Amino acid sequence: MPDELLQRLRRFHDDYFPGVQDRFQNLVRDGQHPNILFIGCSDSRLVPYLLTGTGPGELFIVRNVAALVPPHDGSAGYHGTAAAIEFAVLRLGVERIVVCGHSHCGGIRALYEEDVPQATNLAAWLELAREAALPVQMTPEALRRTEQRCVVLQLERLMGYPMVRERVESGRLALHGWHYVIEDGEVHVFDLRSGSFVPASAADHSGTGPFDHAPVDDGSGTGIFNEIDEALGPAPRGEAQV
Ligand SMILES: [Zn+2]
Repeated sequence: MPDELLQRLRRFHDDYFPGVQDRFQNLVRDGQHPNILFIGCSDSRLVPYLLTGTGPGELFIVRNVAALVPPHDGSAGYHGTAAAIEFAVLRLGVERIVVCGHSHCGGIRALYEEDVPQATNLAAWLELAREAALPVQMTPEALRRTEQRCVVLQLERLMGYPMVRERVESGRLALHGWHYVIEDGEVHVFDLRSGSFVPASAADHSGTGPFDHAPVDDGSGTGIFNEIDEALGPAPRGEAQV
């Protein structure tokens, strides 16, 4: 079997790298100073650099199945995503955090399907998205809504990280919720005021906007997660509000 991967590695080094060598060497000399933490789904069709027109040194990226943020529970376990959030906020001092879900997300779809035997870590991980799932039959619209609700849920979880909440409330950090529609090549950005996702082509900000001025969930049930639920209209028959 020809080792195509080795050929690609050689092509990168021989053909591509010489053209960007200076840029990378500067990033080594000066260190990285990315301004954005990008939390995205691992899906191969989501390409953060293409979406944002960014290159080396500009995005600090953490990706996982369904772009989930574990709750800040103080348990100090092997929490890769939580560690990346702490690194980005406390060591790198990023000013923006993007949570990017997408259409046709297999992780979200799995919420409506039987678990795969042996995929015990996957099943446990996806429980972090369970709250976004709707008690309805799986339809394209239900999946889209669930994908978007899941993004908002992660924004709320981020606010449970003390270092995130502090900075958001003092205006030093902005949160952005994105839903990327693969087939349209368009990101829909979460608009806190309307409680809905707006296509970037029609939006006047890159998502969530003045999050720092928005009410945060104080346990009274008035958080953004509930706002988006209302914004999506009355629940279909038989659907319980979550
Ligand atoms: Zn996905």
